[in-house]
Amino acid sequence: MTTHEVSRIVSLRFSPETSGRPMMYHLAKRFDLTFNILQASINPRQEGHMILELAGTRENYTQGISYLQEHGIRVTPVANQITRNEESCMHCGMCTAMCPSKALHLDLETRRVEFDRDKCTACNQCTLVCPVHAMQVLIDPDDLVTP
Ligand code: SF4
Ligand code: SF4
Repeated sequence: MTTHEVSRIVSLRFSPETSGRPMMYHLAKRFDLTFNILQASINPRQEGHMILELAGTRENYTQGISYLQEHGIRVTPVANQITRNEESCMHCGMCTAMCPSKALHLDLETRRVEFDRDKCTACNQCTLVCPVHAMQVLIDPDDLVTP
């Protein structure tokens, strides 16, 4: 039985050249990684974007990520893609109802909304409902976008 030492949610950006290639098949076949596609927008010969949960042994995970990068795919941990402006957040709780992974949840003791980055799947639901745009999505590491 395969031991999943590592399980991470990552964002993959494909160039038009790599968009049509069966990279997920190779990840599973060559590196024995399991994956769960959470979001995908892939069209052959156009730029593509995919968010997936990737799991496997630490060694296989590292080799699989290197394999993707060697083929020109930009890999970013999703935890780095969603951020919260702590000064803007007023802990109204609206986002907690939308968050499918419970990354945003109410702490019953403090009555504050906590943000657990490791659980975030970058679905963007919170960025759409937050009345003060405290939740922001980083489309690109240098490119902060608010809805
Ligand atoms: S909806 Fe916005 S302001 Fe309200 S708790 Fe969530 S992040 Fe904070
Ligand atoms: S993007 Fe927002 S709503 Fe979606 S999982 Fe992350 S914190 Fe939750």
